[in-house]
Amino acid sequence: MFKFIKSLWWFISKNWYHYLSIVLVGILFPILNLVPGWIVKILIDAVSEEEMKITMAFLFYKIIIPYLCTMIAIYIVTTTKRVLQNRLKVKLYYALQVRYMENILVQDATFFEKFQSGDLLTRALGDVKSVNFSGGNRLINMFLEFMTVVVTLVAMILIHPILAILCFVPLSFIFVTNLLLKRKVKRNWQLVREKSSLMGNVILESITNVRTIRAFSKEEENYQKNLKYSQDTYDIEKANLKINVIFQPMFQSIVAVATIIAYGLGAYYCYKEYINVSELAQFILYLNLFQSPLTNIGNMINNFYQSLISADRINEIYDAKSSVIDKKNENLEEIKTIEFKDFSFRYFGDSEDVLKNIDLRIEEGQTLGIVGKTGSGKSTLVRQLVRQLPIEEGTLFINGEEIEDYNQNNIRSHIGYVPQEHMLFSRSVMKNVLLGDSHASLEEVNEAVMMADFEKDIAELVDGFDTVVGEYGVTLSGGQKQRLAIARAFLKNADVLVLDDSLSAVDGKTEANIIHSLNKYRKNRTNIIVAHRLSAVMHAHMIIVLDQGKIVERGTHEELMALKGWYYEQFLAQAMEEGEEHA
Ligand code: ADP
Repeated sequence: MFKFIKSLWWFISKNWYHYLSIVLVGILFPILNLVPGWIVKILIDAVSEEEMKITMAFLFYKIIIPYLCTMIAIYIVTTTKRVLQNRLKVKLYYALQVRYMENILVQDATFFEKFQSGDLLTRALGDVKSVNFSGGNRLINMFLEFMTVVVTLVAMILIHPILAILCFVPLSFIFVTNLLLKRKVKRNWQLVREKSSLMGNVILESITNVRTIRAFSKEEENYQKNLKYSQDTYDIEKANLKINVIFQPMFQSIVAVATIIAYGLGAYYCYKEYINVSELAQFILYLNLFQSPLTNIGNMINNFYQSLISADRINEIYDAKSSVIDKKNENLEEIKTIEFKDFSFRYFGDSEDVLKNIDLRIEEGQTLGIVGKTGSGKSTLVRQLVRQLPIEEGTLFINGEEIEDYNQNNIRSHIGYVPQEHMLFSRSVMKNVLLGDSHASLEEVNEAVMMADFEKDIAELVDGFDTVVGEYGVTLSGGQKQRLAIARAFLKNADVLVLDDSLSAVDGKTEANIIHSLNKYRKNRTNIIVAHRLSAVMHAHMIIVLDQGKIVERGTHEELMALKGWYYEQFLAQAMEEGEEHA
């Protein structure tokens, strides 16, 4: 319980008055609930008096009016509590989701390797919901049910302490049983949530890769995988249910034992005149008030343990710290120079560097071409600029200052980055292009589209600019997706443009058109082009060749051709391939 409160303290401490008001209103309920028992006592006392005391006035003022007032008060109290509690629940749900999203949005690439999308989604939906229910409702209700038990017990002790304590002895077994079952319930729920996450991953992967699954006829295999996780989850849930089935009647049986003691011993005490009939009736009525809170506490405790596990799972996301940090959070006005100094990089958990001792300076207005074999580290190198990966201190500089000194969002705002996987949103073509600059005019959009050689495609699309591209751009061809992403980056008109293998799906002529636009319209800006086809970089001011994370050749096209190394051989091979294609 305290652990749960601690994990939600960031919310509870800010909304303590909301919690307190619910508790203050809620606590009136068990107190008001004692009134009917007290009225019964008055009535029995009056009936058993030798001289008949029951008059209309007595019934009206001592029985009917107090009873009606109590019922109205109970109605007002429960309704107010429910309204306050619902408001708190909505507020908490919103806070949990916002915090969750905020934490995810600042994470670096390593985080997304650790937590897969399906897992994150399962936590955002299932676990947040479970924590929300406990933090918004269950926590307070458990406290209030507990208070009902305490208030009722005090009232019973006031009637007859020994009888009250003897009845309470069996009730204490409830807490012992609880402690015994706690570990089992928690462990089971942890397994359920873990399996749900795995299932979430498989489902999400199946949906996103449905075409590949069909193409390779892997439907059955995928189905079996899903079935296994569902079966596992079902089995654990069944075990949980079993615990619940044993748990529930146990509470009721314990209350039944207490009731038997009250009846038996109460009757005996009554006979011995330690207690009178009206007090015994009142006592038994109060004992009945135990039944519902105890059953509710039993139910709630079981679910509460589950929320504890869910809280741990959410906290894993809340506590995850990005290893990409802003040391000084300085504002970056513009990007002039970029410099890698003896820069090395290794992916988290890997045993070898994928970039080794890179020394590279890119001047303002230069175009840099990066080429090399697949897996040589080209993408890893450009991803450093958009701050997707953690870096070693004193190895990467912008305008002569360490990149970590600047605010990372600020840096990204100066870079037009087209990654290998073009992230398109299920919106119109226009909206996807406008992501580059939401305030751009139609003229500017048209210009960017023209630069990306995407004009002809717009004319062919059913609704032109208004065509919805579908999820991940499924309704567009590979080349169209690439050009749309390039148009978006052109529209951003940033200091630095980074094209990471962004021309792989376009034909030679389209590539030439885009490179032509780039040379013409971004003449005095910095451009970094990662390419497989050397024709895309041959006009660059400088070209580097990467091999196993090292720069093995550098220079202009002419210099590299003269070097007769990898670049030269690759250039001839590609020229020959093209010649054969045209022949
Ligand atoms: P290129 O762009 O030249 O094809 P990459 O930069 O994508 O090369 O990859 C360089 C090396 O880093 C490869 O060996 C690749 O397997 C590895 N690599 C790339 N991304 C990751 C990652 N997220 N985690 C671990 N290793 C990675």
